[in-house]
Amino acid sequence: MQFVLASHNQKKLREMAEILGELGIEVMPLPENAPEPAETGATFEENAIIKAKSAADFTGLPAIADDSGLCVDALDGAPGIYSARYCEGTDQDRNAFLLENMRNKDNRACRFVCAIACILPDGQEMTVRGECEGELLRESRGAGGFGYDPLFFVPEYGCTFGELPGEVKNRISHRGRALRALKDALKTRI
Ligand code: IMP
Repeated sequence: MQFVLASHNQKKLREMAEILGELGIEVMPLPENAPEPAETGATFEENAIIKAKSAADFTGLPAIADDSGLCVDALDGAPGIYSARYCEGTDQDRNAFLLENMRNKDNRACRFVCAIACILPDGQEMTVRGECEGELLRESRGAGGFGYDPLFFVPEYGCTFGELPGEVKNRISHRGRALRALKDALKTRI
């Protein structure tokens, strides 16, 4: 059975293909000329569904899409669904902006969240979620990963996502957890 992944990110495609391949699912890339829907949802799940629906409508295939971001308690969940566009510029600019907004905050609790939505072969919608708890550091540590990784400290491992080897991050991350939840949910739905 084929599913289209609503993303042009090759890394996400490979990761998804590897996990869902174990269920006999073939994950297809999104055609280059597919429309990019506006992410107008108020939650990670709503945005993931918007992207999955758009890909399913365009290709006629069952579809999978994800949406993720960093939620900081002291900022009432910001940057949240706006993580990629928290401010203009580079990942480094966004990290600096986040640190500035957190300058006088003692509560550093935060979590990465990933929602994955599916439009199933029968047209039904399904979402799963993975979360990873951490603490926001006051300065960057580590050069690995991307985005907010160098600021995201994982107490159990005593280091940031930017310092963890890629395979460890993939195992404990919000995406890793959401992917495993997706696999479990699909087992009973297809
Ligand atoms: P996307 O939905 O996977 O494109 O992620 C949206 C944004 O959330 C990214 O541009 C990053 O700013 C942030 N983000 C999501 N996952 C991660 C992660 O694992 N590490 C660091 N930043 C992340």
